[in-house]
Amino acid sequence: MSKALNKIENLAVFCASSDGNDEHIFLTAYEVGKKMAEKNIGLVYGGSKLGLMGQVARGVMEHGGQTTGVIPDFLKTKEVVHTGLDKLITTNDMHERKLTMNELSDSFLALPGGFGTFEELFEIVTWAQLGLHRKPIGLLNINGFYDDLVKMLNKMCEKELLKKENLEILLVADNFEELLEKMMNIEPKPVPKWMNKNQT
Ligand code: AMP
Repeated sequence: MSKALNKIENLAVFCASSDGNDEHIFLTAYEVGKKMAEKNIGLVYGGSKLGLMGQVARGVMEHGGQTTGVIPDFLKTKEVVHTGLDKLITTNDMHERKLTMNELSDSFLALPGGFGTFEELFEIVTWAQLGLHRKPIGLLNINGFYDDLVKMLNKMCEKELLKKENLEILLVADNFEELLEKMMNIEPKPVPKWMNKNQT
């Protein structure tokens, strides 16, 4: 039986490398970083100073928290990389980056983002679904940004292409503190992935 985490020490955050045009989302990304620092939760993220990624990192750094950036070599240009982080790890490629972020963190959080954010989020959810890790994964639904995605995920369940128990791997809340509570208290249980009618 897996146990709840109870305390989060290192949170991997996936979020947009763009600013977007929603001021509330932009400011909340900074607030998330600030609250992480106040709660002594270290940030593990993609190492960029751009967009919401930069906002979270600034929120952590300006309130005395710990930051670790994990960036693939090809993205490590001056325009992109955050030079003031406590630790910057360079990887050979995107795959190694995700493995490294997984190794360094005990939990995952996605804020609003684009393709990169979705790709990272769903890879880590898929790993959980296959039993490769049991770390909690949170989706922060700021300003209803993820309402349509949540609808889509429910449709996958309706169509029996996703198990309800596997959907529950992804914890969703619109408030960061509430989401952290859920993430710390979840007791992950192994769920068989497949539900095929004709199994040979
Ligand atoms: P996106 O949501 O498409 O903006 O992609 C953001 C996610 O992809 C982040 O969580 C990063 O890990 C990665 N990523 C995308 N662009 C960059 C960048 N310029 N620098 C570092 N990481 C990036």
